[in-house]
Amino acid sequence: MKHNFCAGPAVLPQEVIEKSAQAVHDFAGTGISILSISHRAKEFKPIVDEAAALVKEILDVPDDYSVIFLAGGASMEFCRVPYNFLNKKAAYLTTGLWASKALKEAKGFGEVVEVASSADANYTYIPKDYVIPADADYFHFTANNTIYGTEIHIDPDSPVPLISDMSSDIFSRPVDVSKYNCIYGGAQKNLAPAGMAVIIIKNDALGKVDRYIPTMLNYQTHIDNGSMYNTPPTFTILSALESLRWLKAQGGVREMSKRAVTRAAKLYTEIDHNKLFVGTAEVEDRSYMNICWVMAPEYQELEEEFLQFAQSRGMVEIKGHRTVGGFRASCYNAQPMESVDALIACMREFEAKH
Ligand SMILES: *Cc1c(COP(=O)(O)O)cnc(C)c1O
Repeated sequence: MKHNFCAGPAVLPQEVIEKSAQAVHDFAGTGISILSISHRAKEFKPIVDEAAALVKEILDVPDDYSVIFLAGGASMEFCRVPYNFLNKKAAYLTTGLWASKALKEAKGFGEVVEVASSADANYTYIPKDYVIPADADYFHFTANNTIYGTEIHIDPDSPVPLISDMSSDIFSRPVDVSKYNCIYGGAQKNLAPAGMAVIIIKNDALGKVDRYIPTMLNYQTHIDNGSMYNTPPTFTILSALESLRWLKAQGGVREMSKRAVTRAAKLYTEIDHNKLFVGTAEVEDRSYMNICWVMAPEYQELEEEFLQFAQSRGMVEIKGHRTVGGFRASCYNAQPMESVDALIACMREFEAKH
């Protein structure tokens, strides 16, 4: 059996894979594949509508917000966000590679204040003492730092509306959406196959910038057309819907949060007790989604051997990002507890050998 810890595209619930596969063969009893049916077919619109409604229900999104599904992924939103929301000035917190990419894009649209950065310690912590300018249009942060394994576990306090890249922890905990003008995330970590972003937008936060926004980059276009201005990623939306149904049936974000905390606590406990390993992130900022660790200094030469050993025990994709080294176990919503237990057993077995 394989235990997949890929950072993304990531593990999906088996039920979601089976239902998506079924729709590839015969979508909603039409006798036509979801891959080949018109997005204007009467059977497809309910899919988008239910998916958007479930996002709202699961995250308790207030009525005056819209939910849209757009092709492009989270990286596309790095530019679409400032295009739509940055009029004069925006504040950005730099906690990792994705955060710095988002900041770089914003610079093309106005004044960008970097309120703090943890680049000085290779992004192993979340800066705490920073001041957000009260005249900023918004404060942008990356909720979970997928590469370095740090996470902002609660909605930050801010004098201005929040905007967050929640690509790797969306739907893993309750969020106070009313503090946000926009929440976005690539689908391929906690929701669906790759190729799409889910975006939650406060309706009246739009229309405040002076610039012309090209049609496809304008969120209003997609809100007005229910994510169907052009051909949307139909199969990915269908899988997202199956995932959202699964999530709701499992007990929603409160249950997801419980499971995430349990998975992460088990792994961090092992990392902290196993003589061969050390965690890389500051303890209080440790991510529940991406657990990162390296070999302890005196066992450095065993890194490759552990990777091989873990692989032989069925572990997949536990190599850390090239900028961090070591290991990373990504444990999103669908990650089975048995995979976490199997990885821990493997770490113990390897320790016993040395
Ligand atoms: C994966 C990831 C991205 C990039 O997502 P794409 O869909 O590949 O553009 C952006 N931000 C975060 C936090 C991520 O984890």
